[in-house]
Amino acid sequence: VALLAGCGGPRLEFDRVVLVTLDTTRADHLGAYGYPRATSPFLDSLATSGVLFERAMAPIPTTVPSHATIFTSLYPLEHGLGHNGQRLPASVPTAAEMFQQAGYATAGFVSLGLLGRSGLQRGFDRVEFHAPGASAAGERPEVSAGETTGAAIEWLREQPRDGRFFLWVHYYDAHTPYRPPAETLAAVRRDSGPIEAVEALLLGPHGIRLDVYGGDRVAMLDRVERYDGELRAVDDKLRQLYGAFAELGLADDSIWIVVGDHGEGLGSHDWLEHGVRIYQEQMRVPLVVHAPGGGWPARRVEEVVELTDLLPTLAVFAGQEPPAGSRGTSLARWLRAEPPVDSEREALVQRRTFSGTRPRPSEASPTAGERWEDGERLALIGRRYKYIHWTAGPPELYDLVADPTESRNLAGSEPEVVAAMRERLLARARELRSRRLDAESVDERTLEVLRSLGYLQ
Ligand SMILES: [Zn+2]
Repeated sequence: VALLAGCGGPRLEFDRVVLVTLDTTRADHLGAYGYPRATSPFLDSLATSGVLFERAMAPIPTTVPSHATIFTSLYPLEHGLGHNGQRLPASVPTAAEMFQQAGYATAGFVSLGLLGRSGLQRGFDRVEFHAPGASAAGERPEVSAGETTGAAIEWLREQPRDGRFFLWVHYYDAHTPYRPPAETLAAVRRDSGPIEAVEALLLGPHGIRLDVYGGDRVAMLDRVERYDGELRAVDDKLRQLYGAFAELGLADDSIWIVVGDHGEGLGSHDWLEHGVRIYQEQMRVPLVVHAPGGGWPARRVEEVVELTDLLPTLAVFAGQEPPAGSRGTSLARWLRAEPPVDSEREALVQRRTFSGTRPRPSEASPTAGERWEDGERLALIGRRYKYIHWTAGPPELYDLVADPTESRNLAGSEPEVVAAMRERLLARARELRSRRLDAESVDERTLEVLRSLGYLQ
């Protein structure tokens, strides 16, 4: 049931809605966002016939809480999930429940087991988060993009060609450990020449330092290359999934949202992974909306948008009102190429929270994403300024236009900007906290999986 917007605008309601979440994918490592390596030729092609959001911000650089925001349009300060060992309160309506109530079949194919047990499975007729063929006892915490895609395509084959469905596919490959297939590693590794040249071309514009921690630069470059190879492996599987829609006659009347849950440090700001710091390499994620049926104005949106905006957008696609209390705003106005309503919008982000007792600093893993830090970190991100509020340390202010890699803290020289942004940030945080829900803990078996992944300390 596709409706047309007024004046021949793009379609707004779709029979088949696909949400693809790309774990650990920093926007600036994708071709569509300016990266010179061939990490994402397929997603780039979707973006050239769709809408790409230049400034999409994750709410938190941690998998489960960020996905909880995608599915509920609530910030972590409100839904209460601040780290991966928590579960969405049963009272919060989710995207899948909305589609289910609207008469859509719903299925999720999730490459990380704990994500399928965090309350986000609510509303799905089917959620698969085991490796296909694996016994319950032999569950692996992570499933490859190839396996997840295969399971999703199997499900697609069972769907009637005139049916309506909501499909969620989550790819985890870009998360550590980076073990890309040889062919995708080769596909991104075509840069020859001395390491200095590769460093200048690939890493300099992204604030990545190969000598971070004084380590081995060759090993660090290898690390970045393996990460890039994982991105390419995911992109190849995304192409396969998309192709299956055409083969099965499901492409018409479908809409795709491809989005990252958070980025990755890779050596920017002395950080390798994600979770604790909230600089742009961890917060700025890819976001592309694409309708194979066409009729979409290809464009790149410069305004700041947030993952809280996804549920209201999905609601438009389902012909539904977003659940009461949704914090975001539908992206539909940009899909319709309407003028932006609020170009001064600022994203509110935070770092993960910690559970348990403070661990001893680990000499073996000084850069682990889970490294403990005192206090809270929150940030307000506008088109130009980004203010970072740390309750246990000094404020930071960056001019993202002049200094996109956040290398010069302007807090000392721009006190009025800091004061105004601090006030806005604290007011928003206060309001959200006043409505905070209590996240539950996940079950003991999931906690074991988390420990095996190094998620809990
Ligand atoms: Zn993640």
